[in-house]
Amino acid sequence: MAKKKTIDWQLAPAPESTDHVRIDKQYELFINGKWQKPKSGKYFDTINPANEQKLARIAEANAADVDAAVKAARKAYDTVWSKMPASERAKYIYRIARLLQEKAREFAVIESMDGGKAIRESRDVDVPLAAAHFFYYAGWADKLKYAFPGKNVSPLGVAGQVIPWNFPLLMAAWKLAPALACGNSVVLKPAETTPLTALKLAELLQEAELPEGVVNIVTGAGATGAAVVNHPDVNKVAFTGSTGVGKLIQRATAGSGKKLTLELGGKAANIIFADATIDQAVEGIINGIYFNQGHVCCAGSRLFVEEGVYDEVIRKLKHRMRSLVVGDPLDKNTDIGAINSKEQLATINRYLKFGVADGAEMYAPTCDLPTRGYWCRPTLFLNVAQSARIAQEEIFGPVLAVQTFRTVDEVIQKANNTPYGLSAGVWTDKGSKIFNLTSKLRAGVIWANTYNKFDPTSPFGGYKESGYGREGGLHGLGAYLRLN
Ligand code: NAP
Ligand code: MG
Repeated sequence: MAKKKTIDWQLAPAPESTDHVRIDKQYELFINGKWQKPKSGKYFDTINPANEQKLARIAEANAADVDAAVKAARKAYDTVWSKMPASERAKYIYRIARLLQEKAREFAVIESMDGGKAIRESRDVDVPLAAAHFFYYAGWADKLKYAFPGKNVSPLGVAGQVIPWNFPLLMAAWKLAPALACGNSVVLKPAETTPLTALKLAELLQEAELPEGVVNIVTGAGATGAAVVNHPDVNKVAFTGSTGVGKLIQRATAGSGKKLTLELGGKAANIIFADATIDQAVEGIINGIYFNQGHVCCAGSRLFVEEGVYDEVIRKLKHRMRSLVVGDPLDKNTDIGAINSKEQLATINRYLKFGVADGAEMYAPTCDLPTRGYWCRPTLFLNVAQSARIAQEEIFGPVLAVQTFRTVDEVIQKANNTPYGLSAGVWTDKGSKIFNLTSKLRAGVIWANTYNKFDPTSPFGGYKESGYGREGGLHGLGAYLRLN
């Protein structure tokens, strides 16, 4: 029988224009409302992972630069931001949200250029959600005492915030919006590979006339992050990133009196019962793991399929994978953009080898990949053993590990058998099953018949080694307040 060819059409290129985008050749540190040359004297390049071209030179902050940023934040906190009526603070935060909406296209394109994610996602997910976070927390600024009835609420002081490269602008918004609404000042450290949207946000803060020093942005790699976290005059540390670094930070801040929230890794279970609407579930699985190249802490990276529908689910999943468009992040038809960095691609490739070595069956559609840049095809593994590394460890790439189950108890036991507990998904026609699983799965967020849905009103955070503390919603305020 001739090999069945599923995809025999090609989409015409639909590139997003870059005319409206301004990226400077060089960026300094944003300290005390001004662009300041780094005392370190050092710079590093940020590149576009889709073509390996340099986008800009970025200042590298050392401990002395971080100290200057913390001093600026302290002064702004003491003299301006904590003194200002909350309703005035809210006006600034609303202004930031509106400016972000006005500049949404520029932010979306830069996010895709610097980090490799598909423009469809930066345009439809990252930037609108970032603006929504500022709007949401602006609304809370003058209502904090109603959020915690019977308590006296006061800000903590200077917040040191360190964020990863998978949602650079969105993570900055998740961190800044509640901190500012509660009256704290901030020193923020974006990830080394994706500093540009945070620096564009600094320009936007200037335009919003946010008082100087209220937000300071210090770029650099891990050592810069460590200097922020370890600075003695920081009152609150908020970190999103890997569990390994999260543990280091927990150790470093122990006994320091610093309030800490950690949003760390994940290995989410997506569970399909035989009574689910299979086509809808398959679309949700695809979105859950291949969205943003799988660079998502809550990615549905483990799939559990009830045995009776296994063949149907896998057939439909493979069919859908063959239609995914991998390539230019700036093309509006692209589903899967570039892997964020050479290092991350090497990590993913290592796990692909582990998967095969551990005896799982690998499948990836045979699509062409661009010759330059960092790319990975959407991949799935069948017959995965519970103990296999690809079933236990976070890969942070477009790689799905599939297992089967026969009973509810079995799938709960398997799904919980991981050190992580950030998120999970359940696909079933029965509300009772959903409620049963949501009470037994050890995960901070559980989606039912959908996946990767975010809203600023909803708290987000993990169990176990996925961290502690919540971001988003009313819960996200508590992390930035002293409650007496
Ligand atoms: P990472 O290596 O832990 O880095 C996160 C941030 O910490 C980066 O800004 C990094 O700087 C900085 N950093 C590195 N070493 C540090 C140290 N010793 N002290 C202080 N800061 C330090 O994580 P990543 O690889 O960038 O991001 C992927 C991870 O983040 C995944 O594990 C993912 O699950 C997790 N994540 C979790 C959530 C969540 O909400 N739970 C959300 C997104 C991502 P450089 O990168 O510049 O070196
Ligand atoms: Mg980059």
